[in-house]
Amino acid sequence: MAQRVRSGKAFLHAPCAMLKYEVFMGKVVINREYCKGCALCTTACAKKLLKIGKEFNKSGYYAVEFICEDEACTGCALCAEMCPDAAIEVWK
Ligand code: SF4
Ligand code: SF4
Repeated sequence: MAQRVRSGKAFLHAPCAMLKYEVFMGKVVINREYCKGCALCTTACAKKLLKIGKEFNKSGYYAVEFICEDEACTGCALCAEMCPDAAIEVWK
């Protein structure tokens, strides 16, 4: 059974606003509508699995995207810890 490693807000109540990515070690859920495109999470990830995307969210920010590589994500949740807008949730 999956356990939530880190989350800031009740994202699970707004599934239509979320992008989900399944990986072997962890599952990263990004709420792109909360993202301000600050890129702090991209610097936090040692595996370089997050990048600023090329599409605006509804607030006009370039939202971060998860680069899905099989088994690459360790589920460490450093990206979620770094995010000031609680836009990332990590499960493993
Ligand atoms: S959980 Fe860790 S390895 Fe996975 S995307 Fe976030 S910082 Fe990178
Ligand atoms: S740290 Fe949070 S707000 Fe900043 S780019 Fe990453 S997900 Fe978006």
